[in-house]
Amino acid sequence: MAFPVCFLAADGSCRCLGSFWRPLKLSVETAAGSESRPAGGHAQSKGSRHTMEPAQPPTPPPTPPPPKTSRLAVASLAIGIGGLVTCFLAIPAGVSAIVLGLIARRKIRRSSGILAGSTMALAGVCVGCLGILIYGLIVSFFVMNDISDRAMCASNLCSIGLTCKEYAAKNTDGMLPPSLKSLTPDYYSNTTVFSCIRHDPFGQKIARDYVYFGGGYKASEIGADTILVADRFRHSGIETSLTILFGDGRIKNVEVVKGTSLRTLAAEHGWQIPGPK
Ligand SMILES: [Zn+2]
Repeated sequence: MAFPVCFLAADGSCRCLGSFWRPLKLSVETAAGSESRPAGGHAQSKGSRHTMEPAQPPTPPPTPPPPKTSRLAVASLAIGIGGLVTCFLAIPAGVSAIVLGLIARRKIRRSSGILAGSTMALAGVCVGCLGILIYGLIVSFFVMNDISDRAMCASNLCSIGLTCKEYAAKNTDGMLPPSLKSLTPDYYSNTTVFSCIRHDPFGQKIARDYVYFGGGYKASEIGADTILVADRFRHSGIETSLTILFGDGRIKNVEVVKGTSLRTLAAEHGWQIPGPK
């Protein structure tokens, strides 16, 4: 039966041969004072105490300050919501929200945790995009309505022009109808075609009767640049144009300045307006 042989090495460690023990350095404190002596798991001097050096706990890293919310992120979200609420500012506000949000996210990413609010900045970008999208849809709705209204108006005037010519051709004296309503019921079953229908910004229909100047005139007296039928002027909303039917059957849509009278417009373009007979 082999016993390990232990000895004190010159470096103060205790080494054992013939066993699995590894050199172990122990601190030996004697009653006379503190002295570092090697020790093993065998005989010890009387009156001495062996203690292992306690492991030092790891020093905790300094606590970083809490991240601050990026002001750009806050501004991006606030401007985006503002543009969404005030629809007419949706485009500039939406673009600003998107730009600020992207800049904020870039700064937050590079701040190494000092700045926060990446989600808020992303929300600002999304709200800005949403505002632009909604504004675009509303504008598209208005534009499509306006195009549809103008096309319908031109169709009405085209039909009225052809009917007036047919009416005059059937009369031996070539007189035009005294009024548009006199074309019913022989030519039209109702008076819907005698009104221009347009839509206001809220989608509500506005119907205005056309102005007819052919009453009491012969068809041959209405020249090519003479106004036969015209839209009534509208002085509010998006109604900034009117459609005109001339004596030769030509139809023209004219952009007008708010408050301009038909006679002023005719004088500017060299058109004639038949007087009452
Ligand atoms: Zn019209």
